[in-house]
Amino acid sequence: MSVFLSVENINLTYQTPEGETQAVKDVSFTVREGEFISIVGPSGCGKSSLLSCIAGVTLPTKGRIMLEGRRINGISNDAGYMLQSDNLMPWRNIYKNAVLGLEIQKKLTDENISYVRELLKKYGLWEFRNSYPASLSGGMRQRVALIRTLAVRPRLLLLDEAFSALDYQTRVNVGRDVYNILRSEKQTMIMVTHDIPEAVSMSDRVIVLSQRPAVIAKTVEIPFGAQRDTVAVRNTQQYRDCYDIVWKEMSM
Ligand code: ADP
Ligand code: MG
Repeated sequence: MSVFLSVENINLTYQTPEGETQAVKDVSFTVREGEFISIVGPSGCGKSSLLSCIAGVTLPTKGRIMLEGRRINGISNDAGYMLQSDNLMPWRNIYKNAVLGLEIQKKLTDENISYVRELLKKYGLWEFRNSYPASLSGGMRQRVALIRTLAVRPRLLLLDEAFSALDYQTRVNVGRDVYNILRSEKQTMIMVTHDIPEAVSMSDRVIVLSQRPAVIAKTVEIPFGAQRDTVAVRNTQQYRDCYDIVWKEMSM
């Protein structure tokens, strides 16, 4: 398969009154369409900085990022960006939250509205469409946030610690739901996490970053294929082998 996204020699240095902080150093990698990539690394190493460059929210100091042959140099609708907090609006019901992105982008067409309805039905939220976020569990709210992000059909989905506000059990289950949703929608996805089990169970490739400034310390291919059960794979020897490789690299 051909290159879908290419991250080329990305460097990012923040200028602050106290001086310069180099967050990302010479990071390059490519992603194929439909691939799931995890970026892991120690806290404060530059993971979010790198992802925000891919989102076009932050401009790198050096290097460039190409998505389907077009350079990313600002915020665009091509990338859907989802953060830790679900950011649902408490005064809007679930349906109104799910169509918010379409509303903002002025894309409330019949076709897009029926796509949102289909997503809500497919992923167990249709009966809650008139409920408000406060009455839903953390896992359900995160699914609504995901549907809102997918509704605008981003070419690339970026998740930054999207599950870390959830308790462990919910997090594992939401991870499985999100994984299945994204595979069935044939999304291309890059997620940042500090959770090694999440990275190994949910991706095709794990990129391990070093301490700040982040350089790529190692890339680990994950052998489970697209049709995996992200919970069941955790009991396999292959999972433990991948986990150990990532763990060792992060402990160095
Ligand atoms: P991570 O997501 O891996 O925890 P970040 O990318 O958030 O790390 O941060 C990497 C480094 O860059 C940290 O030292 C952080 O303090 C610094 N940093 C992040 N954002 C900014 C900013 N907007 N201005 C200045 N320094 C920043
Ligand atoms: Mg971060």
